Amino acid sequence: MPAAIRVTVWNEFCHEKQNDAVKKLYPDGMHAVIAAFLNKAGLEATTATLDEPEHGLTEEVLDKTDVLIWWGHAAHGDVQDEIVSRVQQRVLEGMGLIVLHSGHFSKIFKRMLGTNCSLKWREIAEKERLWNLAPSHPITEGIGEYIELPNTEMYGERFDIPTPEELIFVSWFEGGEVFRSGCTWQRGNGRLFYFRPGHETYPIFYNDDVMTVIANACRWAAPRRRRKTAGAIKCPDPLEEVEPKDVDFGKAGIQQ
Ligand code: ZN
Repeated sequence: MPAAIRVTVWNEFCHEKQNDAVKKLYPDGMHAVIAAFLNKAGLEATTATLDEPEHGLTEEVLDKTDVLIWWGHAAHGDVQDEIVSRVQQRVLEGMGLIVLHSGHFSKIFKRMLGTNCSLKWREIAEKERLWNLAPSHPITEGIGEYIELPNTEMYGERFDIPTPEELIFVSWFEGGEVFRSGCTWQRGNGRLFYFRPGHETYPIFYNDDVMTVIANACRWAAPRRRRKTAGAIKCPDPLEEVEPKDVDFGKAGIQQ
């Protein structure tokens, strides 16, 4: 049996401590609920939070992380740039990254995509239907034609992201907006998945379909191969015997 995929679920873990309604829904934090589901699904999930030393994302932790899940909202600015750069390098080397909901404004997501990642939002507990656009994709395994969530925060287009390499879900909202809710990209050797559901005041991470997508995405994003890319060899010896040519192009770049 292949080794279980090791997932680190990162959460800023602020709303659950500060807001009674959120605390009631997620007494041990959203990360605990997500990790528990993933462990039951056969993955090997642990957690990390903002207040831990190095935000819980030490080199040792990342050495043992195949896929990092990111949830943040109120404290994006408190994440140290040094840790963002460390996570970015790991993704370029091959670690998977799954960014949830309000993580669209996290430093790491913006760093990986290079755009503002801005969007419209409205919080009136409206219905959302996430249409499954890629029924044969590994991320939608076990998911039907759509996922319906009775109460959500609306996110609307235009979502300022680079055109996704694969568009897995598009959401329709009761109020009329649409949103690209499930998107994939590759950066370096790493796979990225953005998944929209997950507002802290609704029981989104208790929804089986939502959690099935997250578990599937972990399996999809797990590295096939990890490779250090920073400082790679730039000037190798030729593979064949090559006689260096004595060609003088002159100062203007034109052969004399
Ligand atoms: Zn939200």
